[in-house]
Amino acid sequence: MSVEPRPQGGLPDEPQPRRRARLAAMGIVSWSLRADAGAPLLPALPDDAAGAPEAAHELARLREQVAACTRCALHRSRTRTVFGVGDPRARLLVVGEAPGADEDAQGEPFVGRAGRLLDAMLLGIGLRREQVYIANILKCRPPGNRDPRPEEVASCSGYLDRQIASVAPALILAVGRIAAQNLLGVSTPIARLRGHEHRHPATATPVLVTYHPAYLLRSPLEKRRAWQDLVQVAARLGLTP
Ligand code: URA
Repeated sequence: MSVEPRPQGGLPDEPQPRRRARLAAMGIVSWSLRADAGAPLLPALPDDAAGAPEAAHELARLREQVAACTRCALHRSRTRTVFGVGDPRARLLVVGEAPGADEDAQGEPFVGRAGRLLDAMLLGIGLRREQVYIANILKCRPPGNRDPRPEEVASCSGYLDRQIASVAPALILAVGRIAAQNLLGVSTPIARLRGHEHRHPATATPVLVTYHPAYLLRSPLEKRRAWQDLVQVAARLGLTP
């Protein structure tokens, strides 16, 4: 079963291995669900259980604060706040930009088309969505999906910092220029942020950067570079993609 919009130029009834080889020859990495997708892929760490109730409790408290937040003007236009989702003790925390229309309606990050691609990318390195933690720079949708404004980021960044501190991941993956620049407090182009390990200023958590899945849907040829980034993530977490 493929979770990527398909057949992306695919030929009717073309066998999967041949389709993969043909796309690879064009430099297109095609993410699809593995046969063992239902099995737990990331082994539990001995200390996973230890801090879990505390982290879950802190996150639940923070979620309530976010739900009532009126710190910036976005609270007036939001349908729902989009706090975050996943394992409260995840080793990988994914940071996106801000909720879109689907996320605003459902109250969960990355549930639209880009979210389905993100899920497939994570599965490519053996991680199911529930095994990571996913959050955004902004917890409310900017109208018309415009870029977040500096004052909105400033109002919201404390929430993300506290999420990161509670989950205490081994690694953060920032997806997209806006997530990466705001998370790191820099204006460096994404091409120069990719491929290097950075540190989240507030918690010193290691950060890697890749392209936003929405960008990859528009520019599928860049999936090859995104795959290189994911291989780096896998290596950093001790996973074998
Ligand atoms: N894009 C993002 O950056 N975050 C979401 O939650 C959805 C789309």
